[in-house]
Amino acid sequence: MADVDLPLPNGLSARELIGSKEGITYNDFILLPGYIDFAVEDVDLRGRLTREITLNCPMVSSPMDTVTESKMAIAMAVHGGIGIIHFNNTIEEQVREVRKVKRFENGFIPDPVVLSPQHRIRDVDEIRRNFGFSGIPITEDGKLGSKLVGIITQRDIDFEPDRDRPLGEVMTKDLTVAHEGVTLHEANLILRESRKGKLPIVDDRYHLVSLISRNDMRTNRDYPLATKDANKQLRVGAAIGTRTIDRDRAVALRDAGVDVIIVDSAQGDSAFQHDMIRFLKQECPEVQVVGGNVVTADQVRHLAELGVDGLRVGMGIGSICTTQRVLAVGRPQATAVFTCAMAAREYGLPIVADGGIAAIGDIMKAFALGASSVMMGSMFAGTEEAPGRYVYQNGVKVKVYRGMASSEAMREGGDKRYLAEDQAIKVAQGVSGTVIDRGGMRDYMPYLTLAVRHGFQDLGRRTLELLHQGILDQSLRFEKISASAQREGGVHDLVSYKE
Ligand code: GDP
Ligand code: 5GP
Repeated sequence: MADVDLPLPNGLSARELIGSKEGITYNDFILLPGYIDFAVEDVDLRGRLTREITLNCPMVSSPMDTVTESKMAIAMAVHGGIGIIHFNNTIEEQVREVRKVKRFENGFIPDPVVLSPQHRIRDVDEIRRNFGFSGIPITEDGKLGSKLVGIITQRDIDFEPDRDRPLGEVMTKDLTVAHEGVTLHEANLILRESRKGKLPIVDDRYHLVSLISRNDMRTNRDYPLATKDANKQLRVGAAIGTRTIDRDRAVALRDAGVDVIIVDSAQGDSAFQHDMIRFLKQECPEVQVVGGNVVTADQVRHLAELGVDGLRVGMGIGSICTTQRVLAVGRPQATAVFTCAMAAREYGLPIVADGGIAAIGDIMKAFALGASSVMMGSMFAGTEEAPGRYVYQNGVKVKVYRGMASSEAMREGGDKRYLAEDQAIKVAQGVSGTVIDRGGMRDYMPYLTLAVRHGFQDLGRRTLELLHQGILDQSLRFEKISASAQREGGVHDLVSYKE
């Protein structure tokens, strides 16, 4: 009967979990529950992205051309996260995306789709099919910023059999507009009185500046969690490479008001990145700098010594990534996150766990291993706000999602991250695929956030800081799980199921 005296198992501390000789991933462990003495609403998720930028909802969308442009960055920021604009584009294009986020005003559509009088009804049909709206302002040359001449709504074209008719013949010319500077409240009154669905906003020369949709008014909420700077503008990040010409990019982004620059390398501990960080610290002191990617304590120390404000952790573990298979370099993400978080702590630096988040629970696991925020690509790529169109694949609605080092993205210039730009033969480190439709961020982000709050509650931790405290005082308990335990924790033994 001697074994009744053995202590009951109570899991492992984070250090014991990670300290074993094998590298582990999010799938290899689970968290043990704590004591709950507060409501889900009492959970405070605040986490730091950098020394100076704290996010109410510490989630970050990846700088990838199928994930983050201004629409996504706006959606992330209004919900308390932040988006990082990719750099598979010209400097001017990236700057424009940053400006759109900084200029965003709740309720206004800053870059509405615009057509010209020469466009055809079938162009509106196509926009409706691809984007889901059909209220389209018409300007002289079909561009935003030129003279407003009409508006097309579904009512103008519903019963027109000839889809080749030019919009100039069918558009509504008797317009209700508002002038730049109008408040949302005033716009609301105008829309109600005029019973119109769309309100174009024009400048004093009658040139189109933006658009307000009545449907948005109805659903318009206040965003108390929004990530804002001192001027009450939304915060936004942008990624750059490590080549000399990326210095011009950095300066242009700084001038456009970017809040944080992420130096985007798959292996961040290089002379190129070191030089870039020195340059940024010298020339753009008002911008926060995130270095990376890193997965070892040595890499963390090297970048920390150069004065970065945050670190991005992950190598070869993204859903679209083949680095580990092709180059045999990288690290399982749970091990990387914990190791780097502990090393960065010595410098007071937060880390963002980047990639490999395949389920909502993985967000919780990254936090529990010391991450202060999480960066995700595949989790966001299927939302309406991600760039690109939905397509149907075997009857399922999907969007394209591709690695920035996939052959496809590299052909369009995405190889800057992998030091491959000047090489004639390019080694792909990512793939191109599709992800399932996840609807609009207005529903998806609150859902993600609530799920994470429930996780915090089950752990009995009210804040991210208290969660991290639990790593240090070892009160946060982990357990390694076997392959069959992983199976047990997923959906099993059903003939079919729906999510
Ligand atoms: P419509 O009446 O068919 O144009 O569509 P609704 O007004 O019902 O919905 C359009 C939705 O798409 C609103 O939530 C808009 O904010 C959003 N949206 C995003 N970009 C645009 C755009 O460029 N034009 C229009 N009309 N709506 C946009
Ligand atoms: P996910 O959230 O989809 O698992 O991973 C997204 C992350 O994968 C990005 O934030 C970025 O760090 C990384 N990534 C993006 N494109 C590529 C690629 O082509 N190859 C590799 N190795 N990593 C990529």
